[in-house]
Amino acid sequence: MKIAVCPGSFDPITLGHLDIIERAAELFDKVIVVVMCNSTKKSSMFSIEERIDLIKRSVSKNNIEVDTYSGLLVDYAAKKNAVAIVKGLRAMSDFDYEFQQALINKSLLPQVETVFLAAKGENMFLSSSMVKEVCSLNGDISRFVPDVILEDVIKRCKGENSND
Ligand code: ADP
Repeated sequence: MKIAVCPGSFDPITLGHLDIIERAAELFDKVIVVVMCNSTKKSSMFSIEERIDLIKRSVSKNNIEVDTYSGLLVDYAAKKNAVAIVKGLRAMSDFDYEFQQALINKSLLPQVETVFLAAKGENMFLSSSMVKEVCSLNGDISRFVPDVILEDVIKRCKGENSND
């Protein structure tokens, strides 16, 4: 069975993330979406448990699992016998960082390939931080996040039901 991992912070999941995850699920037997707890990232809007819940409610294919990990991504990939790490690539700005990560991961765990899927045109400038900013300023985010989580994201961004 060919397993791929899709890592990220998903704070919250966007339609850009979902597109990459579901396309990966067409290419691999199983895809594990891993919410990484990365201490270097600034504070998050949603807790890890909430992010996992938002992802689970958004995905529709049954070969997609959701998990979390706080260590090195390659250690997680090795533990799960994954053959690939799938990343989405947006504009050129993602490239340097993602290429560097891919090279480091390849040297740490040569048997796992990093596979880049090009973002869809309409998602090219979409990020979790953009969603949070637009929503907190009362902008319409319905084209950016999955319908099933829209209400929850709006509530949180507008300061209701906030997580500490
Ligand atoms: P963000 O940059 O939105 O905080 P993450 O750190 O959670 O996203 O990113 C997880 C993965 O999803 C990365 O591979 C990232 O390139 C990819 N990704 C993020 N947003 C998009 C998008 N709009 N289209 C395609 N891939 C994306």
